[in-house]
Amino acid sequence: MPAANLGRVSSTQNSEDLFARARAVVPGGVNSPVRAFGAVGGTPRFMVSGQGPYITDADGNRYVDLVCSWGPMILGHRHPAVVEAVSAAAAHGFSYGTATPGEVELAEEIVARMAPVEKVRLVSSGTEATMSAVRLARGFTGRSKVVKFAGCYHGHVDALLASAGSGVVTFGLPDTPGVTGASAADTIVLPYNDVAAVEAAFASADIACVITEACPSNMGVVPPRDGFNAKLRELCTAHGALLIVDEVLTGFRVSPSGWYGLDPVDADLMTFGKVMGGGLPAAAFGGRADVMACLAPEGPVYQAGTLSGNPLACAAGVATLRALDAEAYGRVDAAALAVGDAASEALTAAGVPHRLQRAGSLFSIFFTEAEVTNFDEARTQNTAAFTAFFHAMLDHGVYLPPSAYEAWFLSAAHDEEALSRVADALPAAAKAAAAVL
Ligand SMILES: *Cc1c(COP(=O)(O)O)cnc(C)c1O
Repeated sequence: MPAANLGRVSSTQNSEDLFARARAVVPGGVNSPVRAFGAVGGTPRFMVSGQGPYITDADGNRYVDLVCSWGPMILGHRHPAVVEAVSAAAAHGFSYGTATPGEVELAEEIVARMAPVEKVRLVSSGTEATMSAVRLARGFTGRSKVVKFAGCYHGHVDALLASAGSGVVTFGLPDTPGVTGASAADTIVLPYNDVAAVEAAFASADIACVITEACPSNMGVVPPRDGFNAKLRELCTAHGALLIVDEVLTGFRVSPSGWYGLDPVDADLMTFGKVMGGGLPAAAFGGRADVMACLAPEGPVYQAGTLSGNPLACAAGVATLRALDAEAYGRVDAAALAVGDAASEALTAAGVPHRLQRAGSLFSIFFTEAEVTNFDEARTQNTAAFTAFFHAMLDHGVYLPPSAYEAWFLSAAHDEEALSRVADALPAAAKAAAAVL
């Protein structure tokens, strides 16, 4: 362990060089916008390895990882059971373009955990999962309108990019060029947590489906008000629309059965990704057997994928889900509690107005004092204070999400040592945030 490099970042020359090369051949130098550090400035770090709760960059700097690949690495990096499962799968072959046993196992693991999911189809990204679920809902109902909520992110599906959170808000893009008027016209965007707005939408349009994040976590963490998801269920049922609950981020993270385990509202369709792939590209959508029966080859709604159910991804997913026992979830919960509390205490001590919002083991810190219940409120925060805080943490070897609008992710591998390194970095970072108020 290069202990000398833990705690203080020295050179970032290799990352700078790689970023320059990357920008010559890749737009913005990255393959997903938030990685470019556009919102916080500075040199994005190019990572070369991970172990447990730590990641190491191309200059040999080690960081406590509070991004965890945006959720998938819930067991930490290179968990032995996952490494073994993927190595064993790789030794047999990478991809056949046929059905394989691993897909059956992963589908069974999902169906066993998620009561509303009777049938499930595997895909390779969360975006594909939500895109396919919306197509299926439209095919099943014969209607075209989709209700989504401002600040909810469902991947970069054309119809779902309107007022999305995540990278879209990080970069202040209100909407994106390239999405046609026709595709946007079928999307009704409503304020989150606003039941009256949903009732009004149902009164004025024939709606195919309502899609919502089980617990929004891509505009920061904004939990549903008590009964909000249940009310969506009730309204969808009353109007013959389908309810799609997006658990790509929450699924298998906040409990063995995701947000559903904490707030058991039956969706017609659900979407999954992140944790279920264990760090490899695997995602899924599933739900009611009669709805899923409309998918090809059983039914007329087309959906497919060359690498869907890839053997390596399925092996990683199955091994990850099976290793997530009660003890592992207990460690994730405890680590999230400790880091959230410590960050909030440090900010309070430094006099930085902020609000810690939690939902199970998910949390984020808004640099504003008022409660955040929707996207407009989320956008009142002081992003300059976050930027100062972020860079001070980074300099002290703690890798936070490079955006004020993202949840912080913990893993079962975040042990006492990793947590105390975070705690050690916090006071100076809180002071840095205070200095720019
Ligand atoms: C990450 C995410 C997606 C998109 O998943 P990708 O694998 O990045 O395409 C969709 N919905 C939610 C809630 C997410 O957090």
